[in-house]
Amino acid sequence: MAAILAETARRTPDRTALISGDQSIAYGPLWDQTRSYAGALADRGVGPGTRVAMLVPNVPDFARVYYAVLSLGAVVVPVHLLFKAGEIEHVLRDSGASLLVLAAPALGEGLPAAAAAGVPVVTVLAPDGAPVARLEDEARTSTPIRTYASVNPLAPATILYTSGTTGRPKGAVSSHLALVEQVHVALIDSGDVQPDDVIFGGLPFFHTFGQSSVLNIGFRRGATVLLLPRFDPDEALALMVRHGATIFTAVPTMFLGVVQAAARSNETPPLRYAVSGGAALPVPLLEAFEKAFGASVHEGYGLTETSPTVSFNYVGEPTRPGTVGRALWGVDVEVADPVLEGEIKLVDAGQLGELVVRGHNLFKGYLGNPEATASAVVDGWFRTGDLGTKDEDGVITVVDRKKDMIVRNGYNVYPREVEDVILRHPAVAQVAVFGVPDPVHGQEVHAAVVAAPGQSLNGEEILAFTRERIAAYKYPRVVHVRQTLPTGASGKLLKRELVAEHAPAGNASGATS
Ligand code: ATP
Repeated sequence: MAAILAETARRTPDRTALISGDQSIAYGPLWDQTRSYAGALADRGVGPGTRVAMLVPNVPDFARVYYAVLSLGAVVVPVHLLFKAGEIEHVLRDSGASLLVLAAPALGEGLPAAAAAGVPVVTVLAPDGAPVARLEDEARTSTPIRTYASVNPLAPATILYTSGTTGRPKGAVSSHLALVEQVHVALIDSGDVQPDDVIFGGLPFFHTFGQSSVLNIGFRRGATVLLLPRFDPDEALALMVRHGATIFTAVPTMFLGVVQAAARSNETPPLRYAVSGGAALPVPLLEAFEKAFGASVHEGYGLTETSPTVSFNYVGEPTRPGTVGRALWGVDVEVADPVLEGEIKLVDAGQLGELVVRGHNLFKGYLGNPEATASAVVDGWFRTGDLGTKDEDGVITVVDRKKDMIVRNGYNVYPREVEDVILRHPAVAQVAVFGVPDPVHGQEVHAAVVAAPGQSLNGEEILAFTRERIAAYKYPRVVHVRQTLPTGASGKLLKRELVAEHAPAGNASGATS
């Protein structure tokens, strides 16, 4: 994995790797600084197999620390930026981390967590004279490593923690091979990143999507990554215009944000295309983006456990909006009976079932949790927990998450289908449909809606609009008009928070993710 930065630096040392605020950093100096960080980490005992946790936002130090750890043959454990002290402590203990690299803005939660777990801390971005050990200072007095360690391709490279919808977060272990193969397959086959590209870097790098599709793919190709530590739509648009961004890679909520920002601005960046993933991209939003930015949108599908990409609407081929395209080279995607436990029974083409995946991109398992691994990987197939279909042409559609499916009076309701209908209402900008435990119907269908800029919304009207267009058992009986919908640090909608908010007191079970 470290070769992704080291080799690009060797070949094109003067090309710009990162733009962060007013700072531009070329590949050569970035690798030199990374070698110094690696020297300092080696002095702290980091070596092959050591686990190093890092809690760092999208700033140049993320890249330095990430590749420094990998270049020592050690394992990176990026921690979710919104985790609270208790969650960070769990990750530190569970991963067996020997060190936490902590960015100054996260000291408040990170320091108590590290103290409780008994893990030493070294900081980045801490001001001069701060009473904490600083990696920058240690790097000045240690000897930079000469080059990156040679590793077994199947050795673990990263441990990424799931957000823990069903119990405590689990550490998904991915090998160097799985991660590097992903980058190469994406570059050869399905994507089109060129050295002259400027890629928007607002997806958090602690998450698999930003890490692979922006940082690793961008660096492998020697392109420029435009860092934005905290997503704000107007700031993102201004940054992309100022630096001539050519690729926008984001989750759907970010797409919505920049479409709305573009309506307020008279400038757009020279995008060649955009990549959406992480959650379903509503077709009207895809169309609005293509119209506002004059660039095609390519939706893909992936998970942390699949390192991450499973399928993609390939760049350079006609896209199929509303689908997640075809499987990546070397990745097998099938549809299996969703109910059978401990057994995989594939269903016929076009039939709805659980999407299952196998191939070079599969993770090695959940760290220290063989039971969870065994229930997720059956006969070599990884059960994604997503319902979907695959047609005769191999095009995959994600219908919904299994755990988000609502069962009302014994009928299955797929929230995404209802959401697509509500989004056709011209005054609706965003919607989330979710199931709330109900003593009479088992679950009741609720919708939370956010108005488009300058529009006002009335719950009754949305209810009537949906009732006219969808079967009686599916339309939402309760509509909540809100200013915003809850999202996590990776920009994904958090339906479980909506469920918890609206569940009858003392009954938040059946919570969706
Ligand atoms: P956690 O597992 O930690 O609770 P998560 O399920 O969001 O969080 P990720 O690995 O970040 O974990 O995301 C994978 C999930 O994201 C998939 O299982 C799928 O439900 C959803 N997803 C990703 N891409 C798409 C897409 N294009 N359309 C619909 N859903 C998608």
